[in-house]
Amino acid sequence: MLNFTFKNQTEVLFGKGQLSEVASRLPHNAKVLFLYGGGSIKKNGIYDKTVEALGDAEVVEFHGVEPNPEFSTLMKAVEVARDNKVNFILAVGGGSVIDGAKFVAAAVNFAGDPWDILIKEAPFENPLPIGAVLTLPATGSESNGNSVVNRKETSQKRAFSSESVQPVFAVLDPEFTYSLPMRQVSNGVVDAFVHVIEQYLTYSVNAPLQDRFAEGILQTLIEEGPKSLATPTDYDVRANVMWSATMALNGLIGKGVPQDWGTHMIGHELTALHGLDHAVTLAIVLPSLMYVQRDSKKEKILQLGERVFNISEHNEEKAIDLTIKAVQDFFETMQVKTRLSDYDIDKTAIDGLVDNLERNGLTALGEHGDIDLVKAREILTLAA
Ligand code: NAP
Ligand code: FE
Repeated sequence: MLNFTFKNQTEVLFGKGQLSEVASRLPHNAKVLFLYGGGSIKKNGIYDKTVEALGDAEVVEFHGVEPNPEFSTLMKAVEVARDNKVNFILAVGGGSVIDGAKFVAAAVNFAGDPWDILIKEAPFENPLPIGAVLTLPATGSESNGNSVVNRKETSQKRAFSSESVQPVFAVLDPEFTYSLPMRQVSNGVVDAFVHVIEQYLTYSVNAPLQDRFAEGILQTLIEEGPKSLATPTDYDVRANVMWSATMALNGLIGKGVPQDWGTHMIGHELTALHGLDHAVTLAIVLPSLMYVQRDSKKEKILQLGERVFNISEHNEEKAIDLTIKAVQDFFETMQVKTRLSDYDIDKTAIDGLVDNLERNGLTALGEHGDIDLVKAREILTLAA
């Protein structure tokens, strides 16, 4: 096991009715920027419930944060936050709104061009505190410090990470997910699944508890994910998916172990250049990445096959193939297609994707830093 420090500052308020706790968690004299997306919360009633939960706090609204939150939109929110001198951000939505809130929180008191926070890891001071009301279990953004921001004009999707912008509280009410379109339910389960894989499917450092945490989340997603499509208002199913997605990326399972993140990094270029949903990009990249990295990941792929997918095949190469197929089949069961061609993207697109990886300096990905541009091309070609 590798050395680590572990702290998760987010107070999770889990379950029915927990939104009513929000007012008691706001700072004294709160002036709140209420940040949300395209308006789904107005249709499903979460907007009204949030207004009620905010009680007497002074509130300024900003809406229109899009999926894959746009830099230019977030900069408008920064202006609103500055003009109104808000001292707290309440993000109500999925990963895009919560990630967006983190960027706004960091940018508000930043003197230079806030894009530098994303491309130069520019340090920032005095970020605003954030609270989150999660409506889409997927990213884990509600209890981590990561933020991913898109910039269409330069075809870039970039991330930054800081504990200082991690939500101080997160409301997780499974009933808030009942109104999700099936496509987003599917996306959420796939994203959470791949978050676990990125922290599990590397090489062994003799950390059996971490392995079993990861395997437990994967097994739960495999069991509950299809049910969350079949019986959308089953409270316990939605609760278990929601908690799994949070646990997948709140820091715990990644402690003391190597991490990959190659699938996410290559996937980001597919969103930046072709606008695919985040989870879709992961479902396309992961099986091929497993195939190309099958030697260095051998021991863990075999363990995944045996413990999570119950594969009992003695020939190791066959067992690896069966495990990759099982992962792909799970994505397809969740109704997420796994080939570039399923999304009308052909092999001619690969040059552009590889060029973008190079432009963003992503030339040594994976737990060994050995996914260079040649391997990235091989992965994308296999995924065609
Ligand atoms: P999302 O982009 O936040 O939301 C997708 C869509 O779902 C939006 O149209 C949204 O509508 C709708 N929606 C959300 N909740 C709903 C509900 N309860 N009922 C009906 N519709 C609802 O999706 P996401 O998958 O959570 O976030 C994806 C983003 O997170 C990507 O940019 C990805 O790169 C990033 N990400 C972040 C992390 C991290 O650690 N921070 C990890 C992985 C990925 P509205 O716009 O109306 O709200
Ligand atoms: Fe993700």
